[in-house]
Amino acid sequence: MLSLAGKGAIMSFVRGDLERYRGFEEVMSGKILVLLILIIAAALVAVVIAAMKVKAVRRENEERMQMLINHDPLTGVLSLDGFRRRAEELLRTYPDTPYFLSYNNIRDFKYINDSLGREAGDELLRFWAQKSRAELTDEEAIGRIDGDHFAVLRRIESDEKMQQDRENVLDPVMNYFVDRGKDYRMKICSGIYVVTAKDFRDIDVDHMLDLARVAEKRARDSRTLDFEFYNPEQWEKGKLIADVINFLPGAIQSGDLQIWYQPQVNYETGEMIGAEALCRWDHDKLGWIYPPEFIEILEESGLIYDLDCYVWDMVCQDLARWNKEGKHRSISVNVSRCDFQEDRDIPGQFRDLAKKYGLIPDQLRVEITETAYADHPEVLIGSTKRLREYGFQVEMDDFGSGNSSLHMLKEVPVDRIKLDLHFLTESGDQEKGRIILSNMIQMVDSLGMDLIAEGVETAEQADFLLSRGCPRMQGFYFYRPMPASEYEKACDKQ
Ligand code: C2E
Ligand code: MG
Ligand code: MG
Repeated sequence: MLSLAGKGAIMSFVRGDLERYRGFEEVMSGKILVLLILIIAAALVAVVIAAMKVKAVRRENEERMQMLINHDPLTGVLSLDGFRRRAEELLRTYPDTPYFLSYNNIRDFKYINDSLGREAGDELLRFWAQKSRAELTDEEAIGRIDGDHFAVLRRIESDEKMQQDRENVLDPVMNYFVDRGKDYRMKICSGIYVVTAKDFRDIDVDHMLDLARVAEKRARDSRTLDFEFYNPEQWEKGKLIADVINFLPGAIQSGDLQIWYQPQVNYETGEMIGAEALCRWDHDKLGWIYPPEFIEILEESGLIYDLDCYVWDMVCQDLARWNKEGKHRSISVNVSRCDFQEDRDIPGQFRDLAKKYGLIPDQLRVEITETAYADHPEVLIGSTKRLREYGFQVEMDDFGSGNSSLHMLKEVPVDRIKLDLHFLTESGDQEKGRIILSNMIQMVDSLGMDLIAEGVETAEQADFLLSRGCPRMQGFYFYRPMPASEYEKACDKQ
């Protein structure tokens, strides 16, 4: 028999063993768990890697397929599908860039295949593709549409650039066989379609290709011309757009963009009461160009704001200089409707300019065209109120030239209306025009606003305006716009 102590010892030994065993079991099950987790994680990683590989292979295959669809296997340039896609993408990405689309064709290509062999024809097509591609930038595209027809989407730059393309691409292609000792010079016919603003809004590459093809046919039929424009007037416009857009930053830097002033007078007293700042551009290539030719282009391309900021700054510099000379003058500046965008604080900008140049706010008058108020009434009314709170005078420009609405006169809190005389004097019944003018003068006066008539060209017009109570005027009858130095002299003569 075991003694009690002996039993106790055995029990405690067994208990200890059991506890150790349990501990061991716990450790083991912990390790197994970790191991299991590791195995599962490794399996997951392997699955993910495999899935990624499959995806990459699939993507590669898709890309290869796309590549085959998008590219012409013979020449390596884009296929028709690829060209259509790329052209759409470019026109969407660069909506302000003037582009043309050309459709080019080798005359009597069949003869080359028949007489010199198909391989010679293929060689020529490869050569043409390679020469053209070398001239293009990433923002341009070339595609082989079919057979010996290539389409090119190219930026419009200048006639010189077109000539350069001729020398670098078309001449070598046309002389390809002559340069290789064969007595055969080819002729290439091109049809050119200039992409219009409407095409950018509603992109249809096939339609543009069709029109370029029509022009190519015209060139081919003429037998004398090697290229024809589908829309020649657009080509001239496109070149002007390219010139304006490309040269504006340089013109601002170099001083080719100048600020001219057209004095405004009080016809009753003969006093000069201010002037309007108008920009003038002494263009390197085109000579003097005037706002009606380029303001719209700048508005469409989003560059007008750069020009306006420059003009406002220059005007403030002139005003500050005159202030220093003790000559306190007031100038009206134009603000394009496109300048008013949500992220721009135009009133704040004018306040900062006045502060920077130490001007009294009423030295700056801000002209906003009537149609801008009609297009975006809330934004414009808000900005007008703030400009006036800061002490600037606001003028509604070109009143009468757009679809003037009398309702607008009630809503828009401007200081002064600039009445455009052209619309009343250009055509129609002169007598009725005079009646409208008289009543407008009276109405604007009753509404408590100032009025100035612009576009006054004759003594008769000036006398009539004065007789009806509108003594403030601006127009060629008094002064034409002039450079700052002449304006200063004209003021000093007063
Ligand atoms: P606007 O603001 O209505 O300026 C008056 C235009 O009428 C000026 O043309 C001026 O030369 C012309 N003008 C003045 N008196 C007479 C006249 O008696 N008869 C005729 N036929 N015309 C007269 P300009 O300088 O060619 O400017 C045309 C328009 O271009 C301006 O019309 C204005 O809307 C815009 N513009 C000019 N400079 C700027 C500028 O710096 N920024 C912006 N955003 N627009 C400008
Ligand atoms: Mg104006
Ligand atoms: Mg005007």
